[in-house]
Amino acid sequence: MPGKTRFAPSPTGYLHEGHLLSALFVWAAATKWDLSVHLRIEDHDQERSRSEHIAAIREDLQWLGFKWQSESLQSDHFDRFEKSLKNLEAQNLVYPCYCSRKELEEQNPKNEFGEIIYQGKCKGGSLPLVRTASLSTPSSGGSPRNAPHSLRIKIPDKVINWHDLRLGDFAENPKLQCGDFPIRDRIGQWTYQFAVCVDDIEEGITHVIRGEDIRNSTARQIALMELMGRTEPPKYLHHPLIVDTAGKKLSKREKAHSIRQDREAGVTPQELLGRVLFKAGLASTQAPADLDTALDIVCRNL
Ligand code: GLU
Repeated sequence: MPGKTRFAPSPTGYLHEGHLLSALFVWAAATKWDLSVHLRIEDHDQERSRSEHIAAIREDLQWLGFKWQSESLQSDHFDRFEKSLKNLEAQNLVYPCYCSRKELEEQNPKNEFGEIIYQGKCKGGSLPLVRTASLSTPSSGGSPRNAPHSLRIKIPDKVINWHDLRLGDFAENPKLQCGDFPIRDRIGQWTYQFAVCVDDIEEGITHVIRGEDIRNSTARQIALMELMGRTEPPKYLHHPLIVDTAGKKLSKREKAHSIRQDREAGVTPQELLGRVLFKAGLASTQAPADLDTALDIVCRNL
């Protein structure tokens, strides 16, 4: 059966050079392992996602010459997410967490990435009588069980052994890395961890190619997918990142220079591809490269 990979940007800003590098790795992997490419626009965070960014993602990718075989928008999947939540609830794997951000910060230790390791304060509580409606902030009055809450998954205390196609073997215990993590947040939005697991299963993704900045999510996603019934996880490859001059990864929030800005300034796709290959250490000069050449170069580095 042919495999399938995905490119999964969040439309919370315009694509930048970091995304372009990610896209090159996704499409190079597709060439190397004969995979189809699915474009999944991850707009699960409805507060930060913008329709102009959704349109720009497609346009910028097309301008660069990327082609994909299928496409989805995560906000079309909310029924699918609700169904998956119900299945987990039926197995008694979900509980509400009423801790405020301040309590979470003060009452839990942190891991090496600065994320809290939730110690399970609210575990054992029963599910609320009234569900937090999606995207509305519930009133904090009335029964404490109806107060604002996130939903956390009971993650098993076990080591997940997984293999990265570039970085090798990992043995990580999500319970010790982050503890029971939220699958829906306090304002009723589906979390990245939950949405990505449901969609990687439902969309039949066999290869997940993404940046090293998300590598620490992989063990917890494999653990969550197991609870959802997928025992054979996708194959994973985490690629190196482009860093800015201060050595920090590029981020839309920090207003990294966008592909859109380059296009408007008259930069060609070939110039941009050459620059990204150079910044990623995959080429020794910034010489312009067409997409096929760029994919060949990345392929050789997979
Ligand atoms: N939506 C995530 C991002 O834009 C990528 C998620 C993934 O590839 O798993 O960083």
